[in-house]
Amino acid sequence: MYGLIVEGHFDSSHFLADYQGKCENLHGHRWHVVATLTSMALKAEGDERDMVMDFSAAKAAVAKACAALDHRLLVEEGTLAEETLAALAREGFSVLALPFRTTAENLAHHLFYELKRAGLPVACVEVDETPNNRAFYQETPHSTRTLYSRYS
Ligand SMILES: [Zn+2]
Repeated sequence: MYGLIVEGHFDSSHFLADYQGKCENLHGHRWHVVATLTSMALKAEGDERDMVMDFSAAKAAVAKACAALDHRLLVEEGTLAEETLAALAREGFSVLALPFRTTAENLAHHLFYELKRAGLPVACVEVDETPNNRAFYQETPHSTRTLYSRYS
């Protein structure tokens, strides 16, 4: 098996609703992303001959997926009052409502499917919110739940 590893990052704020601890408060992270792309064979011809894929295209796809989350408040849908969301919008803050709890695990899952949807041969996405802790999502036959039904 061949592979590429492409890294990216985004800076965003979040909080965990229904969590007993520091993470229930609004706070920010530099989220570090590591995407692993794999292929059993290298491309046979063209510009990408003997490559898994062009590194620059892979880097661009990871950067685009990260940019969609960058410098935003990531909010799990239904966890902030409508008047709070309206006040944030009035102030010009960029809020992204997501249909999942904004844990590192779920952000890895989200980015995995964004890269898969972009056509990358993604095998694993790792996301860390601190230098010492890293979550990952890797699709296996035993993956039982998807964040988005549109991907399944
Ligand atoms: Zn956090």
